[in-house]
Amino acid sequence: MRIVVHGGAGHTGEVQDGVETAADVGWKLLDEGADAISAAVATVVVLEDDSRFNAGTGACRRTDGSVQTDAAVACNDGRLGRAAALEDIANPVQVARLVMDEDFDALAGKGALDYARSRGITPAMVAGSEKPWAGDTVGAVAQDASGAIAVASSTGGVSGRPVGRVGDTPHWGGGLWTDAGIGIAATGIGEAISRRLLCFRVAQQVADGLSLAEALEWGLALYPADVCIGLIALSDSEGAGASNASMPWALRQD
Ligand code: ASP
Repeated sequence: MRIVVHGGAGHTGEVQDGVETAADVGWKLLDEGADAISAAVATVVVLEDDSRFNAGTGACRRTDGSVQTDAAVACNDGRLGRAAALEDIANPVQVARLVMDEDFDALAGKGALDYARSRGITPAMVAGSEKPWAGDTVGAVAQDASGAIAVASSTGGVSGRPVGRVGDTPHWGGGLWTDAGIGIAATGIGEAISRRLLCFRVAQQVADGLSLAEALEWGLALYPADVCIGLIALSDSEGAGASNASMPWALRQD
């Protein structure tokens, strides 16, 4: 079993303690027998509830002052759930988790909010953060005792972006990827991540023989130094995190 957690590439605050707390929550759940999806989602909820991070309660504001969030959950059993441009939901990752069990895999905007409401999630005003965030998404990748791997991510996006902008966080293969023996989540400038299909391509490097750490470095090397990027990943035998900027991250494994 293992879990790796990040608190966003380019985070400038002292937030390592928040990531450690979230990792401990996820690890305890795995240790108690929880499945990878439950552990990854619960870990991200802890970070969404910590307003120092750009997700859930601490999500950054759009250019008009509104708050819209994106989230995604995927499992290497083939399930995928995504919610985009979601308003008035404190824990968007829980909406993505519900979508995972539907016969569609993504909802956006009003439809996502209506769906959340219909599934018993009570909307709540999310004021968002006034801090000038550059990013600072949150994410977790967990592997449970059965070997299943799940990825969960949540973000308020990147500051200065317009209403309706959707970043990489719910972009399958861009912001997250999981397949047999691998799970990857990205953070940083979403447009740069999506355009290079970053997580899928990093996973291909592992399939071609690179170690996890080497593959993450390969992914970072696709970018110039001023494009903030971070990655966390698990394989069947190891966990790793890497960024070209400061990125709080934590790993627990047995
Ligand atoms: N990747 C996220 C986005 O572009 C932001 C982040 O990772 O901090 O929406």
